Amino acid sequence: MKQFVVIGLGRFGSSIARTLYNLGYDVLGIDNNEEIIQALADSITHAVQADATDENTLKALGVRNFDVGIVSIGQDIQASILVTLILKELGIKFVVAKAQSELHGKVLYKIGADRVVFPERDMGVRVAHNLVSSNILDY
Ligand code: ATP
Repeated sequence: MKQFVVIGLGRFGSSIARTLYNLGYDVLGIDNNEEIIQALADSITHAVQADATDENTLKALGVRNFDVGIVSIGQDIQASILVTLILKELGIKFVVAKAQSELHGKVLYKIGADRVVFPERDMGVRVAHNLVSSNILDY
């Protein structure tokens, strides 16, 4: 069974973390905001308050043993880049990172992200496809 570590538990990260946990997976969530950690504590396997840009903290949490890492920090580009790099250097096979701009996405790929998502853009594309492929516009 795959194990997931989700870093940054804002709207996007917490949604991924809860969904994976509800699907039966082991989910470690990390965020530096204590309130966010408390709010999620009962909804995922482990919720830990920590600054994820600190490599030693991630090592101590055993992050290297996880199969998939999700970096869901958007606004703080520096933190997003540092965390993505650390996860790859720790040896996590598959790292998904959220980008807030094309350039941010390019950097994430260059430093080793296996997949980069642009939540608003990707969802816009999906909704558009959905609108024309379902029959709701045919009435
Ligand atoms: P969303 O759209 O998913 O709500 P966002 O991009 O608006 O997210 P951000 O401010 O990027 O939100 O942060 C997402 C989460 O990441 C926040 O809960 C924030 O506390 C957390 N976070 C930011 N920096 C770090 C860090 N260095 N270590 C751990 N968590 C962090």
